[in-house]
Amino acid sequence: MYRSHTCGELGITDVNKTVTLAGWVQTVRKFGSITFIDLRDRYGITQLLFGENLNALLNENPIGREFVLQATGKVSERSNKNPNLTTGDIEIKVSSFNILNTSITPPFTIQDDTDGGDDLRMKYRYLDLRRNMVKKNLELRYAVNRAARNYLHSHGFMDIETPFLIKSTPEGARDFVVPSRMNPGQFYALPQSPQTFKQLLMVSGYDRYYQVVKCFRDEDLRADRQPEFTQIDCEMSFVEQDDILNMFEGMIKHIFKEVKGFDYRATIERMTWEDAMWQYGNDKPDTRFGMKITNLKSIFNRESKFVKGELINNAGFGVFDNAETVLAITIPNAAGYTRKQLDELTEWVKRPQIGMQGLVYIRHNPDGTLKSSVDKFYSEERLQTIAQAAGAAKNDLVLILAGKEERTRKATSELRLEMGERLGLRNKDEFKLLWVLDFPLFEYSEEDNRWVARHHPFTAPKPDHIDIMIQNDPAIPDPAAYLSHPYAGIKANAYDMVLNGNEVGGGSIRIFRRDLQEKMFKALGMSTEEAMHKFGFLLGAFEFGAPPHGGIAYGFDRLCAILGGSESIRDFIAFPKNNSGRDVMLDAPSTIDNVQLKELSIRLDVQAPTSNP
Ligand code: ASP
Repeated sequence: MYRSHTCGELGITDVNKTVTLAGWVQTVRKFGSITFIDLRDRYGITQLLFGENLNALLNENPIGREFVLQATGKVSERSNKNPNLTTGDIEIKVSSFNILNTSITPPFTIQDDTDGGDDLRMKYRYLDLRRNMVKKNLELRYAVNRAARNYLHSHGFMDIETPFLIKSTPEGARDFVVPSRMNPGQFYALPQSPQTFKQLLMVSGYDRYYQVVKCFRDEDLRADRQPEFTQIDCEMSFVEQDDILNMFEGMIKHIFKEVKGFDYRATIERMTWEDAMWQYGNDKPDTRFGMKITNLKSIFNRESKFVKGELINNAGFGVFDNAETVLAITIPNAAGYTRKQLDELTEWVKRPQIGMQGLVYIRHNPDGTLKSSVDKFYSEERLQTIAQAAGAAKNDLVLILAGKEERTRKATSELRLEMGERLGLRNKDEFKLLWVLDFPLFEYSEEDNRWVARHHPFTAPKPDHIDIMIQNDPAIPDPAAYLSHPYAGIKANAYDMVLNGNEVGGGSIRIFRRDLQEKMFKALGMSTEEAMHKFGFLLGAFEFGAPPHGGIAYGFDRLCAILGGSESIRDFIAFPKNNSGRDVMLDAPSTIDNVQLKELSIRLDVQAPTSNP
């Protein structure tokens, strides 16, 4: 028997018991002939006391950090208790010990506040994983996994595995491919998601499916993306949008309850995509705080008009008059912002990532007067009108951006988030869920002058938009007027779940009729042959009694990160890749030898690097 107890369980009620512990040496502290060792395992830390009688033995067998040690002794009450440790009331008076393994000095300290940088920790991830905070993250991940599984199981969902070696049908992201030795010149792809399989399972009658499953996307890794990531992937038959929303509202609330002990009582708000874009400039708004965007364009125009016999010339600040759009947010109780703070904010919106030319402010002073950076263009009255339109009251600060529609909307959304952050309104311990609904089914690709699926090609239009799709030709005769094409107005029967401004889940009601699916492929620019080559299996299956169905997938890593109060999904993955998609511990990807290449009938077009970057 290596141990009778773990390093996390002994307390005052165990005093006088003789126990054996095994674990890793966290610290060694020597006081003359007495030595204290903190012994650590997955469950906690227990202090070991080596008395004078063991001093000689310790000197002969020096013990260092991260040694694996077994120690037997009596539990005794500490004179100097440590309230920060669950075992802090006791220590073990060691009577015998056994060094089970030695360790070289670890490259960084195994502590919450480690001295190891990111790269070093990733290279020695197995040591990093010994750190308490990383362990806590993996525990949380497991708790989310367990809660999701329990909920889904109790609602009749069945976990069915789907293959990893599949056919390459890139649409959206790039596929990772795997050469087939047995079929020279041919390749499998790793699934971007089990999408078509889960739909086929619906055709087969498994009306409630789920899987906690790896997905693979060969994308350029923007911050905090991983080439392989995990989804909680679900599909249901005989459902409409509301059935899915209700089922998964239940799941997320169950997860909150089990993982955070938090009773998320409120009904999850449902917002159309259009409202999200107008009010927050963003399809995944952070609704923990208000500061909605107002569109001021309609009050800036050049028309002169007579009001009560007086000529009012609205022409004022050229930037506003000429801009495609003028958007404002109102920051409550921020009229006290200093000139310096406002200058700094102006620099902030001018950064290339935000890309604005400048920032206009109106301070609504507590005494009711207004102060603005465009004072000289507008009368006080006019400023009042603008401030009022932006919903400002006394003591508020209005921030205004103007320019091209899309960029300005994005910039205003970023500014809103930044202000939320600065004002402490994006509290990590507060959770706000939201459903975003009614996305456009298609987006227009200028590059290819065709439609692309906003979600994926299997998403159905809203029921009353199906006919528009069937009856109209998807071809876009005039690219400049694509917005007036009937397809531009088709809404998808799709939904995203947003948590604190992050998309944590997304799905849709699916197309289950062959003619509609064919029309979709056509709209996406696929010829009949190409559609058959790529998705013939699905089109075929739709001819054998496919039931109405729909589903959703949650980004499991991201969900865990948010629940854990972290920005980074990497912290919640045991063995993550870095920003260049490399596993620095394994040093992968790496070259393979010529014998392997030959077996795969592959000749390289590039000089294989001799050592990896
Ligand atoms: N398969 C989709 C995705 O990965 C989710 C879904 O529609 O269920 O985004």
